[in-house]
Amino acid sequence: MPPVSKIIKNDPFLRAFCVDANSKVFDVSGFFTPISIKDQLIRSCWLIEKSFNLGIISKNTNLLIVGAGPSGVAAAITARNKGLKNITIIERSKAVGSILQTTSRNIDFVQYDWASEHWNKGVFPLDKTKNPIPFVLESDEPSKSIKIIEDSLLAADITPYFGIEVEKPTFNRGRVQINFKSIISNSNGGTPKTTEFDMALSCVGFGSEIVQIKKSKFRGYKFWELNNHSEYAKNFEQNILISGGGDGSLQDFLLLATKKQTAKDIYNALRIPAALKKEIEKTIFEVEERLKRKEVWLNKNSPNFQTESCELYGNLQKIHKEQVVKALSNSKVQKNLEKMLTKLVINGNLKLAFSCNHFSACYPLNRFLVILIEQYLKENKAINPFLSNYRIEKIESSDKKLHICNFNEAECAEYNHTVSFKHQCKCDFKANSTCVCKTKPHKDIKANFDKIVVRFGIGKITPAFGKPPALPGMQILPYSLPESEI
Ligand SMILES: Cc1cc2nc3c(=O)[nH]c(=O)nc-3n(C[C@H](O)[C@H](O)[C@H](O)COP(=O)(O)OP(=O)(O)OC[C@H]3O[C@@H](n4cnc5c(N)ncnc54)[C@H](O)[C@@H]3O)c2cc1C
Repeated sequence: MPPVSKIIKNDPFLRAFCVDANSKVFDVSGFFTPISIKDQLIRSCWLIEKSFNLGIISKNTNLLIVGAGPSGVAAAITARNKGLKNITIIERSKAVGSILQTTSRNIDFVQYDWASEHWNKGVFPLDKTKNPIPFVLESDEPSKSIKIIEDSLLAADITPYFGIEVEKPTFNRGRVQINFKSIISNSNGGTPKTTEFDMALSCVGFGSEIVQIKKSKFRGYKFWELNNHSEYAKNFEQNILISGGGDGSLQDFLLLATKKQTAKDIYNALRIPAALKKEIEKTIFEVEERLKRKEVWLNKNSPNFQTESCELYGNLQKIHKEQVVKALSNSKVQKNLEKMLTKLVINGNLKLAFSCNHFSACYPLNRFLVILIEQYLKENKAINPFLSNYRIEKIESSDKKLHICNFNEAECAEYNHTVSFKHQCKCDFKANSTCVCKTKPHKDIKANFDKIVVRFGIGKITPAFGKPPALPGMQILPYSLPESEI
């Protein structure tokens, strides 16, 4: 058998997630896109499966997994199913899947798979095998999903160590030496007895969301409680600004614009006729897949990267719009949408500001539904809910005398703020190599809002093993490998 480091080097998937080849240290966390739960499960399960199939690990391997979120747990169960006896899983918080316990959103296990054929089926794409954690439609409530993770661990006879972090890992002669640090007193079971491992995998997720305007003290709402969302939507006379063009802001927009809790609920309630639905889903699935494949192989260091990436996403947005128009041409679909919309959005009091003229790396269903609502409002109410090509520059309290504006939720939530927007040109469509928007005069603008939600993407995380994997950010998944390597 060739040396382990050579096997890893020759495998594009293992290579991408490798932190140290000699000691078999891997990391599937950090900002990898796409980053749905399913994507993360595929990464962690594939990593274990490939390592086993290529002989990097065996039934006698002493395996460490850091992080008991969906991907860490799925990796541990996959390893157990392969016959590994010694599996240690550590978790920083007091319970499994800490992110799933967030009350900011209704985390849903299937909606990010739309419009693929396997969406709603709880299986992996390509080989259609079942997830090691049986997330199905009914399990999209956080409390139920936590129970499903716990039950899956129990069935595999694995008990995580809670309240533990990795400290000073060292990679030595093909093994990983770990010091464990207890960060929560009175957590269960103490620290792991073993400190030396044959393979280690970090599944600590990705960084928290950036909710702060650059160069400003303003912090928007960090996490909205789900119930508050509907309260805000009821108060339709206030002006609400959501800033950002990724999943976070799109999901907030959907929560405030409709009376539904999740994108999946909105989509189902549209009741698009079966034949039309099939046609729309097929078109969107194909174009999204093509984009994922192309985007991952764009050279991020090339001077043309920005233009190429904008063209890809701009084209994607255009195709979504065509499908949206098809859906809205059905009068029943229009009526169903109308019934769902809140007064807040119909009155034009909800705005979504983003710095391009299209959304960036977000999931197809969020993209489709937000464009659907925009199109409906433009056509039927002469309202544009978007402030595209605008980036927040400054936020000031409009009533400085009334309160000291530290811009924290408790002190500022009910006050009016003036937002200065700077016009952005970088992502507009190109026509004969000229940026279209440069040919039009565009002004920076100011507007008043009562509430401002800031979603500026994901911050950096500290890698659990001291350094990041070889290709941080690469969306290595079965469908993003070049076809020759699948
Ligand atoms: C607000 C929000 C909404 C989302 N909505 C959806 C959705 O609807 N559908 C969807 O498919 N995806 C959604 N996602 C993405 C999804 O949450 C992630 O893809 C998924 O949680 C990744 O699973 P994971 O196990 O890799 O990481 P996580 O779920 O983040 O789990 C990592 C675990 O590791 C622990 N940990 C972290 N650092 C350490 C450390 N140093 N030592 C030990 N333990 C550590 C954490 O406490 C946590 O329990 C959403 C993400 C966010 C932030």
